[in-house]
Amino acid sequence: MDVTIAALLGDIKKDHFLRLDVEVLLAFVLGVSRAYLHTWPQQVVSDEDSQRFKSLWARRLQGEPLAYLLGYRQFWSLTLKVTPDVLIPRPETELLVEQALAFGEKKETPFRVLDLGTGSGAIALALAVEHPEWEISAIDKSVAALDVARENAQNLRIDNIQFYHSDWFAVFQPAVSCFDVIIANPPYIHPSDKHLQAGDLRYEPKQALISAPDGLTDLGKIIQEAPHYLVAGSWLMVEHGFDQADSVAAFMLSQGFTQVQNIKDLAGIERVTIGYRSLNL
Ligand code: GLN
Repeated sequence: MDVTIAALLGDIKKDHFLRLDVEVLLAFVLGVSRAYLHTWPQQVVSDEDSQRFKSLWARRLQGEPLAYLLGYRQFWSLTLKVTPDVLIPRPETELLVEQALAFGEKKETPFRVLDLGTGSGAIALALAVEHPEWEISAIDKSVAALDVARENAQNLRIDNIQFYHSDWFAVFQPAVSCFDVIIANPPYIHPSDKHLQAGDLRYEPKQALISAPDGLTDLGKIIQEAPHYLVAGSWLMVEHGFDQADSVAAFMLSQGFTQVQNIKDLAGIERVTIGYRSLNL
């Protein structure tokens, strides 16, 4: 018997919390928009597409993130390839992009940015697309993540990012003060945080999420070392966990940063902290 779009969607109740996902997955398999599904509900779906859709839907119901099933996620104005080797870019991380743009737009070129733990390349790519004249460096400890980031740069025809395989600043030895902004969305989740057992986090790379033993180790290293790589009159901007704003701000102040500010995301959570370096080391 022929299976129609309406029949495939009909199995999922209107109020199901994954109702939107089911439409996105079916539209993805058929290569059409969601609007198309509603315009042509009686269209027959081939066996092959119907099987493909059902298997993706079964994986979604098990909890696999939509972004990994589709293989992409929107961030800023960009569509980025994502795989289970990279963290799925979050809307709150756009705060870091906004902060870097706000500072950079007041500065003369050359303007140099370092993105630490670039993952899919989200932050670096968003900045690069806004400012093709900026000189952007992006590092990651994961070779597989760097492959994804490089592929994203290529797909978007972005050529002002240098990618490096590095454990934080290790590749930039001996240390030279050369960056106007250093940005990081490092791992910051406590290893025993219960959120790791729920939702998308279960499927994301542990090394991009967890900072042992206390959630603050990587943020601490970055804040401590960044002054060696920042020019006079520059900013360090980091994303952190919902309850880490005070610790991060206090640590920045102890390392000589000034004008330290916690910035709230759209949910009202202090999610990003920035600190100014008036002098270089
Ligand atoms: N923002 C992610 C979360 O809490 C964590 C990302 C990270 O550790 N950098 O879901």
